[in-house]
This record gives sequence, structure tokens and C-alpha cells, in this order.
Amino acid sequence: MPNFSLPSDVFTRAAERFPTPFHLYDERGIRQTARDINRAFSWAPDFKEYFAVKALPNPQILKLLREEGCGVDCSSETELIMAERCGFSGPEIMFSANAMPPREFDLARRLGAFVNLDDVSDIDTLAAHGGIPETVCVRLNTGGAFSFGGNGIMGNPGEAKYGWTKDQLLPGLTRLKFLGAKRFGMHAFLASNMTDPGYYPALAEILFKTASALAKQSGLPLSFINLSGGVGIPYTRDIPPVDILQVGEDVRKAYVRVFGEPRPGGVGIKTELGRFVTGPHGFVVTRAVHEKNTYKHYIGVDACAVQLIRPAMYGAYHEISVVGKENAPATETYDITGCLCENNDKFAIDRKMPPIRIGDLLIIHDAGAHAFAMGYQYNGRLRTAEILYQEDGGYRQIRRAETPEDYFATLEW
Ligand SMILES: *Cc1c(COP(=O)(O)O)cnc(C)c1O
Repeated sequence: MPNFSLPSDVFTRAAERFPTPFHLYDERGIRQTARDINRAFSWAPDFKEYFAVKALPNPQILKLLREEGCGVDCSSETELIMAERCGFSGPEIMFSANAMPPREFDLARRLGAFVNLDDVSDIDTLAAHGGIPETVCVRLNTGGAFSFGGNGIMGNPGEAKYGWTKDQLLPGLTRLKFLGAKRFGMHAFLASNMTDPGYYPALAEILFKTASALAKQSGLPLSFINLSGGVGIPYTRDIPPVDILQVGEDVRKAYVRVFGEPRPGGVGIKTELGRFVTGPHGFVVTRAVHEKNTYKHYIGVDACAVQLIRPAMYGAYHEISVVGKENAPATETYDITGCLCENNDKFAIDRKMPPIRIGDLLIIHDAGAHAFAMGYQYNGRLRTAEILYQEDGGYRQIRRAETPEDYFATLEW
């Protein structure tokens, strides 16, 4: 079930103050989810959620997550700089990039971040760029297909560009030890947007077993397991939200099976959730600006794939509601389109909806992660504003809309 928790007047009042389209984020919901995650893993030694910055790279969001005790997972130099400017440092930062320019290691090391090595060749690169830290994390790719609980194939790690093969791990860890590493962490990301609550526990079991065997074989102690991201959110009505408290409990059971009862100083747990933290708490607020009847019935809105590319890029489903018509019967069938000269710029295809009039406010749900962040400027359409709907009921613009001058700023005339 997508998130319908905000009353519609929250959107109406925002649209009175700020020109559409814009992204609106619900501070209360984001904070609550961060607290839920922290509670779910409160049993785990040295637990930290490293919010995946790429999901919603806005300083105000990162700062409020820091207040909730979260760190950040960065995947580029720019994200590292943003993290530093938001006050994150040292073990509050995880750097998980792949095929990155080597100098990015230098910056990660200067900040004292945990570095998550995506490939065996990164060992030498890191040694030359900032040096091997005492604690180093390696990223496992289990290969083949990933399935659990008899649910069929959930992911295809063997086709993914990320991580080390199992066979590369022992020689790699042995070399890391030789180069001065004192302990290691292990990370894996085997499937994305998993709304099956069994995903994290199944992944955890694999990582716990693989890493504890490698610790014995290599003589390098295991410091932590990083379960990465991938816990999903329900974009459609037929899927229930993941009960993160239950997930935490099931990961705990797997932990006890492999490591025994958790104790201070024992193997730590980290997560890098992105979508799960902010996804349901963000909305694209847009207005119907055009109606067209040809071979199909189109409603044009003032947002386009620049604000949210997931439907165009992956055929992703996003719930769309019409403010004031939430309970009206869905008697019409529309394609809801943006203005790009690109036919896949559609937020919905053949969607049953109540009758829409020009000027109606439309809310595209579950746009709090991998939404604004994936925006681009095709057709010279510019990125729009981000608004934080604060816990105190106020609104704060946390990113202004781009102007043509922003678009021109990098050009030679
Ligand atoms: C994208 C990413 C995440 C976050 O993924 P979600 O699906 O948003 O939870 C976490 N870790 C790494 C390394 C990633 O690339």
C-alpha cells in the first residue's frame, strides 16, 4: 500500500505557497522510519544505518537523519563532500562506490570513512590512495541467481557489475592483512526493492556464514556485516509495507545461529537503506495543465520525467491521486503525461482515475527516493524545488528551482 498518510490540505497549502511542480517531503515520516530502523536493530552491536545519499541527496534531509543517529553511505566524491559539509565524519561515513576515480579513495580516507571495496583490484588502488585502513570492508557478489524461501528468483547477482566473487575473497583478505588491515567488514547487495520481509534475513545468513568462515581462514577478525540497501517499499496497493521490526528480529535469529547471543564488542551490523527511509515520505506535487483526446485520453501535467524518471526508465508504477477527488469513482482511463519530446514521458498509462479538470492538483506518491535525485535536464526542462513539510506544520524550501541561468552556467558562449 503506498503512503496516503498526509491529509490533502497539506498539499493544497503547499501549492498555494510554491509554484508547481515540486517535491514535498514529510519530515515526521522520515524521522519515524529512521527510528523504526534503529529500534529494529537495537539488539545489534555497533549498529548504524548509513542512509544511501544517492536516494535523496539534500543536506536538510541528511542533517535530520544525522539527528536520528544515522550515518551516510556515499558513492561519489560529490556525495562525500556533501556529507562532510553536513557535519558527518569518520565512522559516520561509508564509501561504497564502484569503478570510481582513484582520487575519491584519498578523500574518503581523509574523512576517515569506512571504505567498501568493490573489486580485488581496489586493494592496490586504496593502498596507493590514502592507504589501507585498519578496518576495511569488502563487497561480496554471490554470483548466479539469488532466491530465498522458495520465492523464485529475486535478483541476478551473476549479471551485476558489483562485488567480488567468492573465490577472490580469501586471497584478497590475506593480502589486506599483509598490507596492514586489522579487521574486515563484509557487504552484499543482492536484490533491489525487496518487499518480501525475508530478504534481509536471507542475505544476513549468507553474509554471516561466509564472513565467519573467511575470518577463520584468513586470520583477519570480522568487524561487521553490512546488509546494504534493498529493503523495498510498496508502490502498489496490493503489497503491504515491510515490517522492519520483524525483519530486525529475524536478522537477530540468524545472527544468534552463527555468532551466538549478541554482546558488546561482538560482530557489528550496518545497513545502507535508501528507498526504505525516504521513499514513501516524498511526493511530486503537480498540476493538470492540458487535456487531449486523440487515440487515447491524455492529461498533461506540469511535471515530467525530469522530476521522476522511474516510470519512463523502468516502467515503474507510482500511485497518483487527485486532490479533493481521493474518494471519487475512477470512471476515466488516462495516460498522465509530462511535456518532454519523448514518448515514454508518462507517469501512468491506461490508469483508471476520477475525472480530471485542468488546474487539478495531482500527487505522485512514493517519490522520496531515487526521484529528484535521478532528475536530468533534457529538453532544457529544469529541476524544480524541494519542500520539507516540517514536523511543526510549517513548510521550508530546501532546494530552490533551477533557472535558465543555472543551466547556462557551465556553457561557453
Ligand atoms: C543504491 C545503494 C543503496 C541503497 O539502495 P536502496 O534500494 O535505496 O535501499 C545502498 N548501498 C549501495 C552500495 C547502493 O548502491
